[in-house]
Amino acid sequence: MIISKRLIDIRNILGSIQIKSQSIGFVPTMGALHPGHMALIDACKTKNDICVCSIFVNPTQFNNKQDFEKYPITLTRDIQMLEAAGCDILFIPGIVEIYPAGYIAPHYELGILETILEGEFRPGHFQGVCQVVDRLLQIIAPNHLFLGQKDYQQCMVIKKLIELKSYPTRVITVPTIRENNKLALSSRNMRLTDPEKKKAEEISECLLTIKQEIKAGSLKELKMAMQHQLTKHGFMVDYVEIADADTLESIDVWDGKKKLVALVAAYLGEVRLIDNMLLNE
Ligand code: AMP
Repeated sequence: MIISKRLIDIRNILGSIQIKSQSIGFVPTMGALHPGHMALIDACKTKNDICVCSIFVNPTQFNNKQDFEKYPITLTRDIQMLEAAGCDILFIPGIVEIYPAGYIAPHYELGILETILEGEFRPGHFQGVCQVVDRLLQIIAPNHLFLGQKDYQQCMVIKKLIELKSYPTRVITVPTIRENNKLALSSRNMRLTDPEKKKAEEISECLLTIKQEIKAGSLKELKMAMQHQLTKHGFMVDYVEIADADTLESIDVWDGKKKLVALVAAYLGEVRLIDNMLLNE
């Protein structure tokens, strides 16, 4: 695996690949890799000649300073995992590679995606996500971009970014990888104790209950009941939402046909967890 830290190096490497017309797949990450990230690498490898991964903990997408400072960093292990998975190129940019002197952050018109759910509870988060992904897409210019369904709204935001910038990159969404089929893997899980991890499974249980119990008509009671359930188990809930799977608009009365997704964000102690589940694929 080639490891590149500087813009000039990655541009040279990718330039020679583009000359050979080999397809480039790209997996952007913030490191602290786990099997969820590896599922993206595997998907990337099967669909492309060259698999590029990046590790960059992007400061502009953290709306909480403490969350940024406590973000886990396990670089040596990450490199071993990527080597073992057969990743071809790892890009580990420094801050100046992504945000060079004189960088002016553009504003991205994300519509309602910016004001609902994660957008509401993490002001500025998606502008930060767009800034870093925009820069990375300019640098890597991949044919395919691999994203996890775990960050459902983020996938929609990045698709919107690609549309706004008319990039030729195609997004491929990879299903969420879970521990024992329950807790969605996340780098932030490293900050949970074992008993907390067990308790965190309640989030996927709650999504599963919604999937099993949902029926046409009012959804308000089901959302409220699940919110109470999580609060009772010691979570501080930001939201339990059932939304249109294509637009993320909140659905309070369901016609029994529209494609839906249930989404949860809740704190367990200091750690904020998110998860989602498609309800009628
Ligand atoms: P992160 O390092 O958290 O920024 O995540 C990098 C990419 O991995 C994003 O596209 C995430 O959606 C994806 N990802 C994170 N956790 C999982 C998971 N459990 N299953 C599948 N993809 C994931």
